[in-house]
Amino acid sequence: MMERKKLVAFIMTMVVAMAMITGCGASSSSKKGEYEGELIMATNATFPPYEFVENGEYEGIDVEIAGKIAEELNLELVIEDVEFGSIIAGVESGKYDMGMAGMTVTDERKESVNFSETYAVAVQSVIVPAGSDIKSIDDISADTKIGVQQDTTGDIYATEDYGDEAIVRYKAGPDAVQALASGKVDCVIIDKEPAKAYVAANDGLELLDSAYAEEEYAICVAKGNDELLEKINTALTKLKSDGTIDEIVSKYISAED
Ligand code: GLN
Repeated sequence: MMERKKLVAFIMTMVVAMAMITGCGASSSSKKGEYEGELIMATNATFPPYEFVENGEYEGIDVEIAGKIAEELNLELVIEDVEFGSIIAGVESGKYDMGMAGMTVTDERKESVNFSETYAVAVQSVIVPAGSDIKSIDDISADTKIGVQQDTTGDIYATEDYGDEAIVRYKAGPDAVQALASGKVDCVIIDKEPAKAYVAANDGLELLDSAYAEEEYAICVAKGNDELLEKINTALTKLKSDGTIDEIVSKYISAED
């Protein structure tokens, strides 16, 4: 009887010990053991159709492409939703593995981070209230009150072209659009696809036909993290050539646009 009790106790101890060992060995991921680690992506999820929150979930073109990249790398994708302007610093410091946020490749940003191959072309466009005196880019001047999302290329280019005085900066695109809808600014300069989504969600706003600037989006990683950059580029090449990226884009953007 005694022996049996001891055996049971021994087995129980072993079970607890093994549970502790596996528990400690696994990553903090809920799917223990399935991934080799995490891929932490910093983004700003107010930027449809690239990244936005719907029913409490992150969705959009970047979110889906990042998911596929993480799959290729056997990593669990973890999304950190932060201000656009703090993505690059967080990537530089190693807080995030990569930044993916409809982020335009610029020479200035290249001084701080490295960029992957580009995965999308984009344009900066202008939103105005319906019936505005601003009928084309040429109608914008230093006297125009221009709303922008802080630290974006819309902010950078418009500041260069019209001067700091003309610019009103907002933390997120929807805040700038809200200011436009309530007459606080005369126009908003922002990426075209989000602009289309914002216009669709707000009565009385429209998009100018002409593009303000043309640019390309890529993923940024810390300088020196060449291993990750290479892996991301290999994954992107595969996802481009097997049609995955086109498929994802066409879910969110119709071809005739
Ligand atoms: N494409 C713009 C930039 O890189 C805006 C990106 C964004 O607001 N998420 O600055």
